[in-house]
Amino acid sequence: MLHDLTKLRRIVVKVGSALVVDPETATPREPWLFSVAADLAALRAGGAEVILVSSGAIALARRALGLTQPRLRLEEKQAAAAVGQIRLAGAWQAAFAAQGLNAAQLLLTLEDSEDRRRYLNARATLATLLSLGAVPVINENDTVATAEIRFGDNDRLAARVAEMVQADALVLLSDVDGLYTADPRRDPQARHLPEVAAVTDEVMALGGEPPPGYSSGGMRTKLLAARIATGAGCAMAITLGTGLHPLQALAEGARCTWFSPAPEGRSARKRWIAGSLAPLGSVSVDAGAVRALGRGSSLLPAGVRGVSGEFSRGDPLSVRDETGREIARGLSAYDAEAAARIAGRRSEEIEAILGWRGRDELVHRDDLVLL
Ligand code: GLU
Repeated sequence: MLHDLTKLRRIVVKVGSALVVDPETATPREPWLFSVAADLAALRAGGAEVILVSSGAIALARRALGLTQPRLRLEEKQAAAAVGQIRLAGAWQAAFAAQGLNAAQLLLTLEDSEDRRRYLNARATLATLLSLGAVPVINENDTVATAEIRFGDNDRLAARVAEMVQADALVLLSDVDGLYTADPRRDPQARHLPEVAAVTDEVMALGGEPPPGYSSGGMRTKLLAARIATGAGCAMAITLGTGLHPLQALAEGARCTWFSPAPEGRSARKRWIAGSLAPLGSVSVDAGAVRALGRGSSLLPAGVRGVSGEFSRGDPLSVRDETGREIARGLSAYDAEAAARIAGRRSEEIEAILGWRGRDELVHRDDLVLL
């Protein structure tokens, strides 16, 4: 598999209305929601930060409001979202509470990802929630989002969130197991594509037209999301999400399409790490680690001699050699206290020292820039 989910530092998972809402009863599919919360809890226990983008507000309220016609007017969608969002949030709150986790609701509009001040606010809130151990559960703020300020679909919203938090992967749980060379429901010759190296115009053309019915998604919006996410240096997967424990299934090799992050997306991210962030701490490393970094390796705790400053997981660090010269900058996979405890120790010892399994690297090479 292209991406080992257990190695991810920050992951955004998007679930569509068709998965969240039982069409028979128009209520949340509770066992499924609980299984997704359990999968996300397991990823967190492995050291990843997780964010959920969930649709379903409108679908959860249509029947209760008697809005069962196939197409709703904008005001009707806004009204349905107002009724459905409270149900959706309640369902996720219960699912995460069963894992001992706090769910946090964020309702965003397109403006929040475009206006710089609002963008920074939303990003800071997300970072704080993650550092407090809460699981952000995001949807579009449909009740206030008029045509001009709507994402309109949560695939793109999820991609913007992934870009905003510099996630390393976005997983779209869907009712299809990935991208095909043609629509597999119509064309028996359609071939599944396990990997897409670049979201070119030819790839975009495979998206076709949006499907009728409740969900606003379809392959086209997923490919638009892929373009945004991969352009920001974030890998993206489309996989079948209908069964219980869909993320565990993905980690175990379920069929999916992985879209590779664009190389220039990575370099934009690296420029951002090197240039835009003021280091909040610093680590000094031995000569062996300096050589390993020069060869493109990650920074392992074993090579670290000293840790200073106050930083949280994900914060920028400056990496210094034994003479104090700054040789690299990167994002720390551990907070200052944990980093000090594992400094100089082998990665296999991390779990015994901290009591939980984090990443093997103190700074992963994807998050590291040599100066
Ligand atoms: N925000 C909408 C909802 O929660 C869903 C949009 C989408 O399906 O992409 O009902």
